[in-house]
Formats: sequence, structure tokens, C-alpha cells
Amino acid sequence: MENVIILGTGCAGFTAGIYTARANLNPLILEGKQPGGQLTTTSEVENFPGFPQGVDGYELMDNLRKQATKFGARVENAYIDRVDFTKDRKVLFSGDKSYEAKAVIIATGAAPRLLGVPGEQEMYGGKGVTTCATCDGAFYRNMDVVVIGGGDSACEEALFLTRFCSKVILVHRRDNLRASRIMAERTLANEKIETVWDSAVEEILPDEDGKVRAIRTKNLKSAHSQEIACKGVFIAIGHLPNTKPFEGILQQDSNGYLVPIKGSMVKTTIPGVFVAGDCADHVYRQAITAAGMGCQSAIEAERWLAENAE
Ligand code: NAP
Repeated sequence: MENVIILGTGCAGFTAGIYTARANLNPLILEGKQPGGQLTTTSEVENFPGFPQGVDGYELMDNLRKQATKFGARVENAYIDRVDFTKDRKVLFSGDKSYEAKAVIIATGAAPRLLGVPGEQEMYGGKGVTTCATCDGAFYRNMDVVVIGGGDSACEEALFLTRFCSKVILVHRRDNLRASRIMAERTLANEKIETVWDSAVEEILPDEDGKVRAIRTKNLKSAHSQEIACKGVFIAIGHLPNTKPFEGILQQDSNGYLVPIKGSMVKTTIPGVFVAGDCADHVYRQAITAAGMGCQSAIEAERWLAENAE
């Protein structure tokens, strides 16, 4: 039986791995469907502290992996699809295979919802299509960009992008925003933000270098199609936390995010089960905040094991 199993190899999972390994807990880290997590889909990361020149997302995750394994963390590829947290020893299932642990840190992350239109995958991460204005906004200084979506995230991204971009075009599939009133009012009052209502993105169009040059939208009421020239496409249509195996077992909010107990960011209602990173955080969603939660969950797991496991 393992002392601690960490689910996920994003910033939260590997940071929990570094801390639990250095605490001599010999952690086992299970890697799911996206090794290295969301950062591996980003080219340059400019806002992770300690890298004044920026760092390639893939390289950062590779370094975190090396740092965790250097201290003895083991990494195994296994997608956990079912768990049994009813007994002291927690059981995790990956198909027919099962793992047992005294403590579990869930750092399974979240995946940005995507549009599923032509051009999106081809230009995702470095060629103009992105899901994170905080990460990539500064690359679009003095350029025109579009933001897709009508929720708080889309408004927040659009407002953030006005700091850099010459024009931000918000494209929404309906004619009013789902966002909270204050965010919607701020967005609509901003002179740099234009709105395109009732419109669905049909395609993202490349230039001759394979980078974004425009999107083609269709008005859902008039069926009129148009091209909107832009250098960046920020997709902000929500995230899907990777929390399916924990449904009905751990507390979740209405969007599926895991909810820690009051007074803690990482403890759950089940003793010895902790959460970290984007699977439990829909507010900040940053690499550094995920790493911070990974650290917290590891320290809590270490304390819990010292007090509860023989
Ligand atoms: P959200 O509230 O679910 O909004 C998603 C938006 O994307 C909606 O406008 C939706 O359109 C649109 N959309 C969904 N699927 C689409 C598709 N396939 N094609 C085109 N458009 C699509 O997600 P969110 O904005 O990420 O917010 C998630 C939660 O976090 C919310 O509770 C939000 O309040 C919270 N949040 C809060 C803040 C803040 O307070 N500062 C910031 C960010 C997020 P419809 O409107 O037509 O459904």
C-alpha cells in the first residue's frame, strides 16, 4: 500500500510530488490523459515567478517532473476512472488495475472547453488560438483580437486584453451576456470592446504562416456569414474540471469543481483525501496558484499521515 498517491501531473500534482517526496513519503504520481497538464499546450509562460525571460510551458513541466523524481517520486501512467474512499485504505481503479493508498491528493486539473471548429486545433497554443488571456494577452500588444463567449470569463478576458490590444471583439452566440451584471456593464462600457451578437464561430482562418488571420462567423438569426480579421482568438466558453470519478463521493459545485471543507483550500470531507489545482479552483486557474495548492495539499497530507497512519 502506498503512503500517498497523487492524481495528475500538472503544476499542482508535481508540486505535491516534490513536497511529499522531500518528506520521505515515497509518493506515487499517476499521470492521466494529458501528461504535464494544461501548460504543455502553451508555448511561452511569462508569469511564472523566477523566469524573467519566460519559460516554455513544456520545459517548465519537464523540469517539475525532474525535480519531483529527483527526490524519489515515482510516475506511472494510469487514468483513474473509479475510486472507493469508504474505508481507511483508499482504493483507486484504472480499468482492471487497482491502487491502494493511505492518503490521496487529487490534482486532476480542468480542461478548457473548446469550440470544435476547423482551424482551432491547428492554431492552438502559439499560433493564435488560446484559452488564457492572463497567460498570452501580452503577446498581442497593439493587435486586434477576438474573445468568444458571454460569461464572466469572457468578460474578464476581454477587459484584461484591452490593456494590450488595439481592439477586442467579443463574439457571443446570443444577444445578451450571461456574465454577472457588474462584469457585463464594465465590458459593454469599455470603448476598446466591440460586440458581435447572435454569432457562432464557423472556422478559424490561417495566414500563409499558419497563424490566425481571421475568424468566420455566422449570424444565427440572419444566417449572414462574415470574416472578422484578428491576430488572436481567445476562447472563453468555460472549463470542464476533470472530476468525473469523484461524482457522488466528494462535494462538487454545480459546475463539477471539487469543493474543499470550510476553512481549508485543500482538505475534503473525507479524511486523508486532499484536492489541489484547477479541479478545485475555478477562480484563479494559474500555474502558480495550482503549484501553491499542490504544496498545501502535500503539507496537509504529511501532517494527516503523521497523526493518523500507523
Ligand atoms: P460560463 O458562465 O459557463 O459561460 C460560458 C459562456 O460560453 C456562456 O456565455 C455560453 O453561452 C458560452 N458557450 C458555452 N459553450 C459554447 C459554445 N460551444 N460555443 C459558443 N459559446 C459557448 O463559464 P465561465 O465564464 O468560464 O464561468 C464559469 C464560472 O466561473 C461562473 O460561475 C462564473 O461566474 C465564474 N467566474 C467568475 C469570475 C469573476 O467573478 N470574476 C470570473 C470568471 C468566472 P450561453 O450564455 O449562450 O450559454
